[in-house]
Amino acid sequence: PGAQMPFDPEKKTIVVLGSGWGATSLLSTLDTADYNVVVISPKNFFLFTPLLPSVAVGTLNPRSIIQPTRYITRHKARQVSVIEAEATDVDPVNKTVTFIDNSDIKGAVSSTTISYDYLVYGVGAEVQTFNIPGVKEHACFMKELADAERMQREFMDCVETAAFPGQEAKEIDRLLHMVVVGGGPTGVELSGELHDFLEDDLKMWYPELAGKIRITLVEALPSVLPMFSTQLIKYTESTFKESKIDILTKTMVKAVKEKAVVLQMPDKSVVEVPCGMVIWAAGNKGRKITQDLMAKMPTVQTNRRGIEVDDFMCMKGAGGSIFAIGDCTATSYAPTAQVASQQGAYIARMLHQMAKRDALVEKVGKLERIGAALGTTAEATAEEKARINEETEEARRQLAKIKLRPFHYSHQGSLAYIGSDKAIADLPFMNGNFASGGVATYLFWRSAYLSTLFSLRNRTLVATDWVKVKLFGRDVSRE
Ligand code: FAD
Ligand code: NAD
Repeated sequence: PGAQMPFDPEKKTIVVLGSGWGATSLLSTLDTADYNVVVISPKNFFLFTPLLPSVAVGTLNPRSIIQPTRYITRHKARQVSVIEAEATDVDPVNKTVTFIDNSDIKGAVSSTTISYDYLVYGVGAEVQTFNIPGVKEHACFMKELADAERMQREFMDCVETAAFPGQEAKEIDRLLHMVVVGGGPTGVELSGELHDFLEDDLKMWYPELAGKIRITLVEALPSVLPMFSTQLIKYTESTFKESKIDILTKTMVKAVKEKAVVLQMPDKSVVEVPCGMVIWAAGNKGRKITQDLMAKMPTVQTNRRGIEVDDFMCMKGAGGSIFAIGDCTATSYAPTAQVASQQGAYIARMLHQMAKRDALVEKVGKLERIGAALGTTAEATAEEKARINEETEEARRQLAKIKLRPFHYSHQGSLAYIGSDKAIADLPFMNGNFASGGVATYLFWRSAYLSTLFSLRNRTLVATDWVKVKLFGRDVSRE
C-alpha cells in the first residue's frame, strides 16, 4: 500500500472489495489488530437494501438507510484504509488489485495497483437485463440508492404530467400505469409500497388522478415469490387483488419502449401495453470484474451463476488467497443479505484464527531453532533446555487446537412487506416452518429490520422517518 495508508510490514494485508452486506459484516467482526486492512468500494457507504423500496416512495429518507463505511471502521483496533474506488482487475497470480477513481472529480492520480495477502471479494451483483431491448434505456432499476431516488422523481413526474391541463384521458391512463417487472421479493415489496403511497397520500393530494393510477406486476413464472410457502404466495396474491394491484403471471417482458412495455402473454400472444413507467426488478447477474476474474481460472470457475467456492468460502483455483462472499458467489444458498452477512462474519472469524495459527507456527519455528541452538551449546543448563522444550510443546498444543471450521449457514427466516400494513414471514420453527402473514407480521417486519440496521444512528433515523410519515404523510415534492 501507498505511503498514506497505515501499514505494518510485519502484518499480512487483507484487501476487501465492496462495502455491501458481506463486506460490512466482515468489517464489523474483523480483528484489525491482526492485519493491515484496506477496503475498496465505489460507494463509500453501506446500503441497507431491504428498506430501499421504502425510499422509492418517500417513506424513508435516502440517507436514513445508508451508513458511511468509515463510521464502521473508525471503531476498530487499528486504522483501516477506506478507498472510494472501483476495482477493475484482480491478478490472482501476483496477488494484486487494480482500482480506479471513477467519481466525477479526479486528482492527478486516479488509478493504482496494490498487493494483498488475502483478498475478500464481495462486489455483489448487477442488474440482469437479459439484453431485452429497451430495458437499459427506459426502465428504472431497484438495486442502488440512486435507483430509488430516480424512481421517486420519475413517478412524481408521471403524476404531475398527468395533471397537466388538457391532457387527454388516454394519455392520463398511460402516464399513471406503473409496470413492475419481476415477481421476486423486490418487485412485490415495491408494488406494495407504491400502493401505500397511492392510498395514504396521493388520494389526498391528487384526488382527481389517484383513482386512475394502476400498478401491474409482471412475472414470467407461474407464481410470484417462489421462495415463500404456498399459503403465503396465496395470501400475497389475495392481498394484491384487494389492493387492486394486477398480477400477470406466466407473462414475459419482451421489450421496454419509451411509452410502453411489450408483453408475451401466457397464450404466447404479444401485446404492447402503454405505461408511464417500468420498474425493472427481474434479478441479478455477475459483474464484469467477476466474470474477468473467473475467466483467469477457466478450468475450475465455469459456473454461470458466479464464483465457485469451497466449504471455507475460498475461491476455487485461487490457491487459498481469495475469499468470495455474497451475491458474487454460486453456492447452494440464495443470494440474500442474510447469507452475505453470515459469510462476512465467518470470514472475519476465520481470518482471526488464521492469524493466531500463523503467529503460533512462527513461535514454534523460533522455539525449535532456539532449542536446536541450545542443544549444541555446552553452557546451556538443563533447566534452560527443559524450559524451551516445555514452551515449544505448549505452542504446539495451542497450534493443534486451532481448527478452521467450514461455513455453516443458519437461516433466520424470510420476510417481505406486501403493502397495506401487511407483511409475510416464513420462519424456521422446531425443524419445520412457521408461515404467517398480516398486520402482526408487519410489526414484526418493522422491528426485525429496525434491529438489523447496523447502528443506533440509522435506527433512530428510520424510526423518526416512520413517525414523520405517520404524522405528516409522504412528501410529494419532486426534487
Ligand atoms: P452488495 O450488498 O450488493 O455489496 C456489493 C458492494 O460491492 C457494494 O458496496 C458495491 O458498491 C461494491 N462494488 C461493486 N463493484 C465493485 C468493484 N468493482 N470494486 C469494488 N467494490 C465494488 N436480502 C435479504 O436477505 N433480505 C431482504 O429483505 C432483502 N431485500 C432486498 C431489497 C432490495 C431492493 C434489493 C436490491 C436486495 C435485497 N436483498 C435482501 C438482497 C441483498 O441486498 C443482497 O443479497 C446483498 O446485498 C448481497 O450482499 P453483497 O455484499 O454480496 O453485495
Ligand atoms: P429475483 O431473482 O428473486 O426475482 C426476479 C423475478 O423476475 C423472477 O421471479 C423472474 O422469473 C422474473 N423475471 C425475470 N425476467 C423476466 C421477464 N423478462 N419478464 C417477467 N418476469 C421476469 O430478484 P429480486 O426480487 O430482486 O431478489 C434478488 C435476491 O434478493 C433474491 O435472492 C431475494 O430473495 C433477495 N431479496 C429478498 C428480499 C426479502 O427477503 N424481503 C427482498 C428483496 C430481495
